[in-house]
Amino acid sequence: MLLGNRPRITNLWSKVVDGESGEWLSRMVVESTRPYEYTLKEVSGGVLLECSGAEVNMPEGKLEVNDGLLRDINVEQTGHDTVRVQMSLEHPAVFNHAVYQDFPAKLVVSLDRSFITGLLSGKRIVVDAGHGGKDFGGRGPVSLLEKNVVMPIASNLEKILKRTGAEVTLTRSDDVDISGEERAALALNVNADAYISIHTNASADSSVEGAATLFSPHDNNSEKLALYIQEEIIKKLKVRDRGTAAQPGLAGIDKGILAVEVEVVTITNIVEEVFLRGLTIQERAAEGIVNGLIKYFALTG
Ligand SMILES: [Zn+2]
Repeated sequence: MLLGNRPRITNLWSKVVDGESGEWLSRMVVESTRPYEYTLKEVSGGVLLECSGAEVNMPEGKLEVNDGLLRDINVEQTGHDTVRVQMSLEHPAVFNHAVYQDFPAKLVVSLDRSFITGLLSGKRIVVDAGHGGKDFGGRGPVSLLEKNVVMPIASNLEKILKRTGAEVTLTRSDDVDISGEERAALALNVNADAYISIHTNASADSSVEGAATLFSPHDNNSEKLALYIQEEIIKKLKVRDRGTAAQPGLAGIDKGILAVEVEVVTITNIVEEVFLRGLTIQERAAEGIVNGLIKYFALTG
């Protein structure tokens, strides 16, 4: 046997995809120079891939995923020619896999996200992009307007929630000014399960930064949802955690509707204004909010 000629694991990534038969999947792809022997099995809290006759040729350790089902993937060389790839899951999932012998060779594990659609399917969720029209909300140092930047976040949130089977209503899809009363009335009219309002924080102090989630006052369930969303937003955006607080403005949305206002980051901070212009934050913020909702409904039903 030639030394150094073992198959090398060179790359590992994951993505949420639609399967060929319309399934919704978390997919992990392990790339290598050549195929290797392996076993794939369900273990407590996840799925374990054990490779033999292979070596790791990429950074070892934990890759955070946080896609609502797949929490993280840990890859490590456990012996001379053995490699462990451990997928940690938030929820149970049926999985299958396939091997493709091209270059690079690929081992693809597909995890079914039905647990998530089971939680959110049929839930009525109102997504509110804050401000609009003459009311532009906060303004960044380089003149980014809150009313404009919350719109793509709301659209991304709508898109992901629809994929989970939730029934989504937007308070606005154009640049129009609507009152707080109209927004609340819409949530009441559709008998919403949850009302999610998207904002950014603004401060006269340009050093203030980070994300916060506000909740309908005196409502324990909204407070709980806010805590979960805040936790998941911070995981996704890695910004300063400004915590959760009651928002008196949400008090009009009662009758058992969960009501939260997410201040994604702080638009008046120059670094976060730049960050807000990027597509990454606009997607990750929406994913974080969905992860918070998944957690809430998983724990409360
Ligand atoms: Zn605002």
